[in-house]
Amino acid sequence: MTSLPLISVDPDARGRKPAMPPRHLADLDLPGRRALVTELGEPAFRAKQVSNHYFGRLVRDPERMTDLPAATRERLAGTLLPTLLTPVRELACDDGATRKALWRLHDGSLVESVLMGYPDRVTVCISSQAGCGMACPFCATGQAGLTRNLSTAEIVDQAVYLAGVAASGAVAGSPPRLSHVVFMGMGEPLANYARVVAAIRRLVAPAPEGLGLSQRHITVSTVGLVPAIRRLASEDLSVTLALSLHAPDDELRDELVPVNQRWKVSEVLEAAWDYAATTGRRVSIEYAMIKDVNDQPWRADLLGRLLAGKLAHVNLIPLNPTPGSRWDASPKPVEREFVRRLRDAGVSTTVRDTRGREIDGACGQLAAAEDTDSDSRAATA
Ligand code: SF4
Repeated sequence: MTSLPLISVDPDARGRKPAMPPRHLADLDLPGRRALVTELGEPAFRAKQVSNHYFGRLVRDPERMTDLPAATRERLAGTLLPTLLTPVRELACDDGATRKALWRLHDGSLVESVLMGYPDRVTVCISSQAGCGMACPFCATGQAGLTRNLSTAEIVDQAVYLAGVAASGAVAGSPPRLSHVVFMGMGEPLANYARVVAAIRRLVAPAPEGLGLSQRHITVSTVGLVPAIRRLASEDLSVTLALSLHAPDDELRDELVPVNQRWKVSEVLEAAWDYAATTGRRVSIEYAMIKDVNDQPWRADLLGRLLAGKLAHVNLIPLNPTPGSRWDASPKPVEREFVRRLRDAGVSTTVRDTRGREIDGACGQLAAAEDTDSDSRAATA
């Protein structure tokens, strides 16, 4: 049997104190912000004013907050809007319709976000952890392990920052307003449960409390942390659940998604169907197509039997191989046959577009490249 890496779910649980960032307005709800502003000796309504700049106007530069007294602008903005994300690289491809950002956090950790423009919408893919403890062997992020959970504000700030980029008209051929957020960047969102749920509440609360996105336009992915899926179903949120299945049988899934050793395919799917029943939301089944690993016709048929008649949609993802990896994408004819068999079983299926390939588009690839570059710079220094 393949020997598999250990899964670490939460760095706090190992007793190592992660270096969390300074508190930010987006960590707090509006009453919490009012309390903080009052502690600073300012009138409580300043919290709403600063929130309106940040969430409503996507402004973070105190100089542009001209409705605040000049004498207190810097202090208020410095306390409520400390810098959380420092851009390291911003890259564009797909004729400007995809923009990838690599950020350095206050403790030096690197995380990524991707902004994707379409004719009818703008989507941002955000990270929920620095690194990831889930150890999926085909994933660049999984190879490096988990550094720490992101704070609520570090998660939200990725979306707000890139909403500002979209609003500046930088995404070619798309509307200027950010409309969709997917938690499919670095990390396992449900392993950072409380902060991710708080971030969702900020994203969907109307301005000035939050960014005012529709709950239905938020997608949370998971490798299948069953208790957390059940807890999410009870949150009274109608966000879409994306289950990264990648294999329909336990033997292969134990290897591809090591958390399957804890919660098997049948348990994970049962939790997903309960989520769909509670929220009325169709579950997205994510399936990376990996050449000669999980793309056989019999696996398509087995997947079809598991999903037939369920409130589910399959999203096949052509694998974006990481440099030096032994994993490769399935050939197109194999992919087409897989799709055909699923559709014949009555399962709605699409193949995801491969945005960002030219810019290390798979999760963790840009951060991995930056680390490698830094290493080579250090080695040649
Ligand atoms: S695929 Fe997702 S859950 Fe698995 S290691 Fe990569 S980031 Fe983590």
